[in-house]
Amino acid sequence: MGLSGPASYFDGVTSRRRPVLVALDDTGLRLSESDGAAPQLWPYSLLREVAGPPGALRLSSQSAHALARLDVRDAALAAAIRARAPSLAAGERAERGLRRRVALWGCAAAVSAGLFAVYGLPALADRIAPLLPWSVDQRMGEGFDAQIRFLLPTGDGDFECGAGDGEAAGKAALDALTTKLSDAAALPVPLKIVAVRSSIPNAFALPGGYIYLFDGLIREAETPDEIAGVLAHEIGHVAHRDGSRRVLQASGLSFLFGFVLGDFSGGAATIFVARVLSEASYSRAAESDADLYAVRLMRRIGADPRALGTMLDRLVAESKSKDGADVEKDRDGGSALDYLSSHPAVAERRRAIDAAAGDAPARPALDAAAFAALKTICGPETADEGS
Ligand SMILES: [Zn+2]
Repeated sequence: MGLSGPASYFDGVTSRRRPVLVALDDTGLRLSESDGAAPQLWPYSLLREVAGPPGALRLSSQSAHALARLDVRDAALAAAIRARAPSLAAGERAERGLRRRVALWGCAAAVSAGLFAVYGLPALADRIAPLLPWSVDQRMGEGFDAQIRFLLPTGDGDFECGAGDGEAAGKAALDALTTKLSDAAALPVPLKIVAVRSSIPNAFALPGGYIYLFDGLIREAETPDEIAGVLAHEIGHVAHRDGSRRVLQASGLSFLFGFVLGDFSGGAATIFVARVLSEASYSRAAESDADLYAVRLMRRIGADPRALGTMLDRLVAESKSKDGADVEKDRDGGSALDYLSSHPAVAERRRAIDAAAGDAPARPALDAAAFAALKTICGPETADEGS
């Protein structure tokens, strides 16, 4: 019969601290909540120690959400866990290495405070973002993705389209398009493109290859290349690390320290996702760089690079034909028209896209049947459509 005791659990999605009972089973820790939810098993071999508050053993598990944490304050329980989990010894060594790195970062922070004063944060973020390992982008993306799925209002259905009744063919079409773009882009991170159940005409990218294509935008598209072009533009933001740059600009190095220290709580992520989504304004230079990236990528897959400009024009026309009340309502609902407000000077962008596009013959990125399927990836009608 194993030992057991109380601990605090964070699920990695919300910032709520939940009391759990931890029992030491033969193969791992069994976490049970007082509400009677099904217990989780964290196998000993997959436990990792991460930097936590003084006096507590803070654990993560490779079997759980990457940001889930367990804080054990009971010293006897912590010692018993250490005795059974060989992986924690390695964790302790890593921890010592981490402390050295943190000390280094402390020096870097002191230096950077000086640099901020001299150069300003945006200029510094520009210099730092390309130097970050891609794994940092991926961790940011993973954390933000969990927050976005939690935060975005998506009506009655699932956040992500493609798993519902009659949505499988649309999902297959989106996956085929993703593979095509992904092979041509050949980024160091895999692309995760999802269709979002929302009638807002929007699309955005997060660091690390996470791209969200809203149903409202899919429905506005008249050709597969218009969707491919928007995706190619978002892939450009991923390739250029624009999201990471924006996170650095919004937070300074404190956010990065959070990652280095492993103390990246759900609450902090929520705040930053809100900022990243609401202040969706890349610089004009970043936008035109992403457009030119999209033109090159579309040419590489043999599709029509001009379709991105056509799509942007249509979205502007649509937003002008809406009355003010509708626009205001959508804005309250989330990120209405952010796609346009964050993508200024559409006429100018379209001219630049056309100029760069050239005259090579194009073949649609998806055939007619696959495009028709993609149009219904969120079902025949969105839940919040029809006003
Ligand atoms: Zn953009």
